[in-house]
Amino acid sequence: MRVLIVEDEVRLAATLQDLLEMDGYAADVCHDGESGLDNALTNIYDVVLLDVMLPRMDGFTVVRQLRAAGCAVPVLMLTARSEVTDRVTGLDSGADYYLTKPFEPRELLACVRALARRQPELRSTDLLRCGDLTLEKSSFTLSCGERSVRLSRKEYDMMELLMLNQKVVITKEKLLVKIWGYESDAEDNNVEVYVSFLRKKLEHLRSQVKIKTIRMVGYCLELPEN
Ligand code: CA
Repeated sequence: MRVLIVEDEVRLAATLQDLLEMDGYAADVCHDGESGLDNALTNIYDVVLLDVMLPRMDGFTVVRQLRAAGCAVPVLMLTARSEVTDRVTGLDSGADYYLTKPFEPRELLACVRALARRQPELRSTDLLRCGDLTLEKSSFTLSCGERSVRLSRKEYDMMELLMLNQKVVITKEKLLVKIWGYESDAEDNNVEVYVSFLRKKLEHLRSQVKIKTIRMVGYCLELPEN
C-alpha cells in the first residue's frame, strides 16, 4: 500500500510519513499542489492525503483535476479550517473524506484504512488469480496447481502489480516508483533483476503464465491462448 502525502508544512508532512510508515504503508511526500497532482496522476497510490492551502495549486483544484483526468484514487483532505463551506467545497471537488487539523493519529490511520479498503473489488479478497496462478496476499504465496513458492516483499509487490493489470504493459518507471518509491536510488536494472527472480519462480511452478518483455517499454503478463 502506497500513500501520497501532499502537505506544505514540512514538519507535519514528515510526521505523517513516519506515522504511516510505522503502520506498514509506503509513503511519499510532496510539498506543493502542482507536484502533488503530477505524482497522484501516476496512479501508483492507494490513498492521497491532501492539504487544502498549498503553494502553486490549492487542494480543491488538485482533486478536481485528478477527477477530471479520470483518476479515482481515494483522497482524504486535511485542513486547519473547519468551516462547513470548506468541507462542502472539498467533497464537491471530488474528495472522499475530510479531516480537520489537528487530528488524532489514530483517527487518521482509521481513515486511511477505510479509504484503502474502498479501492476496487480486488482489495476485498485475499486471493488474486491470473491464468493458472494464484497469489495469496496474507502469506505472499504464489501457487500453480500443487506447487507454491513464497515471494519476497518486492517480488510480491511486482507480481501483484502485474496481475492487477493483466492486459496492460507496465513501464519500468512505474514498477520502479511503485515498488521502490520516488526517493530511492533503485535503477532500471533493479526491476530487471526482480523480473528474472519472478521468471525463475514461474518456471519452478511450471506455470503457463509468462512475464513478457516489451522492448524499451516494460513488462506484461502473457497468458496462454484460450
Ligand atoms: Ca497548508
